Amino acid sequence: MKKGFLLLLLAMILVSSLAIGQVYDRKETLYAGGGLWSPPNNWNPFTPWAIMTGTNGLIYEYLFMFDPLSNEMIPWLAVGGGWIDGKTYELKLRDNVFWTDGEKFDAEDVKFTFDIAKKYPGVHYSSMWNWMKEVEIIDPLTVRVHFTEPLYQQWSFQLYQLPMVPEHIWKNKTEAEILTGANEGPIGTGCYLAEGYGQDRMIYLRNENWWGIEQLGIKPTPKRIVYLTVSGNNVALGMIFKGELDISNFFLPGVPAVKAAYGIHTYFDGAPYMLSDNTAVLFLNNSRKPMDDVNFRKAVAWAINSDDIVTRVFENQVIRSNPLGFLPIDAWMKYYDEKVVEQYGFKYDPVVSKKTLADAGYKDINGDGFVEAPDGSKVELSIIVPFGWTDWMESIKIIASNLKAVGINAKAEFPDYSRYQDELYSGRFDMAINNFNSNLSNTVWSYYYWLFWDIREQQTQGNYGKYNNPKAFELMGAFDRTPVDDYEAGQKIMLELEELFLKEIPYVPLWFNGMWFQASTSVWSNWPSEHGPHYYPCTWNGKWQLGGIFMLSALKAE
Ligand code: CA
Repeated sequence: MKKGFLLLLLAMILVSSLAIGQVYDRKETLYAGGGLWSPPNNWNPFTPWAIMTGTNGLIYEYLFMFDPLSNEMIPWLAVGGGWIDGKTYELKLRDNVFWTDGEKFDAEDVKFTFDIAKKYPGVHYSSMWNWMKEVEIIDPLTVRVHFTEPLYQQWSFQLYQLPMVPEHIWKNKTEAEILTGANEGPIGTGCYLAEGYGQDRMIYLRNENWWGIEQLGIKPTPKRIVYLTVSGNNVALGMIFKGELDISNFFLPGVPAVKAAYGIHTYFDGAPYMLSDNTAVLFLNNSRKPMDDVNFRKAVAWAINSDDIVTRVFENQVIRSNPLGFLPIDAWMKYYDEKVVEQYGFKYDPVVSKKTLADAGYKDINGDGFVEAPDGSKVELSIIVPFGWTDWMESIKIIASNLKAVGINAKAEFPDYSRYQDELYSGRFDMAINNFNSNLSNTVWSYYYWLFWDIREQQTQGNYGKYNNPKAFELMGAFDRTPVDDYEAGQKIMLELEELFLKEIPYVPLWFNGMWFQASTSVWSNWPSEHGPHYYPCTWNGKWQLGGIFMLSALKAE
């Protein structure tokens, strides 16, 4: 009896480890990494910051996709949408789309997805109801969204940010289940199903009944995606060498040096190797002295040698930012005003920095080599980034030495992540690098919304340095209320906003973080590249709708 039990136990262990360590046909399986940092335990689209990457995008889908490379909104669960008057947006939904439990996707699902945020203010997009009025079902495939005060820019952004959920399933869930539930066994409309997961991996199985196969004529090539946690950069690099990882979205130092020898694929053949994904900005705490002084902020901006960071820290895998921090994509650059930047912009020039300080009354009174403030008080500042973020740690060491070179006493400090976040949100820091919401998007509104978020107790969504300028907030709001296709009106506001930003320089844009992407060609080929196909090679959580599905569909088995 005891022996039988042991045998049974042994058999059970064997079976369960087989399930997790299942060996799949390598030629049908894509191994991915760079977007999973802890064991998968959440597939709830209402907690988009905490979910397993791919939940939104591969399982749950959006009304539209946005391709940052072609600057196109691509109809997805919606076949079209447009303003039928100044306050009404009509959505035409795609026919013959089915949830993976067999139920048909229709207007009820779209209405439910918006309405749930009105019912439960805890849903993260509930603030949309400050300017939305009603979601009206015209017929099963037509929805009209009525607004009290349409925020056109934000609306265009939300069209590819909010995944649609099945009303017939979610209407039965409690508020707690919706706001914090794990949602195991997710039912979506997307091109993959959640097949299984283990401590270090998530397994996606292709949905052979996905609507896109017939309606778009595309089909993700890999039958399975095994998304792995990878313990570090070196491990990821080694796995690509050995062909154990097909796509990596990690920042890997050393790639430029070994790329050719090991046949590692990147988007560009040479520098910067990577597409740009977001802007790294030095936040100055405008609520503290001397960062409340525009002349001091100017002196900081002119003192920083971002090229040095680009070369020494990032091995030219990133690009130095322009003074506005606008990512090099058409959606943003069409508003970039060269003349304003020429007139009011900054660049690295320590002589100008020193002169700016001296003219504003910053002098070294006690002869210690560092300036004192005009009122004679000591200037002793710190710059923070989270401990372990090695590229950023090296970057602020360079910034601290740049500042010291012009006479500003600043030191680099590395609190652990939770303390960094706490100090950032509560405004208890002098200077900090951050990029939490400077991601590329269809509208530069999203960038300014982050820079000029209104002042609160906790700056959870941006404007960490509590820059308080009603004019800036007003311009940002005015731009949001400008129809997306009214370029002229938008540009007029943008011009003012750009001039204000450069004259005031509340924060200092530094460089563009890369869309880190390295691929192995041992199993899969036809990866995105400058030579084509031109797709955004991203498997990060919240970004699958920027091109990841097109990338998967373009892949060819070697
Ligand atoms: Ca001094």
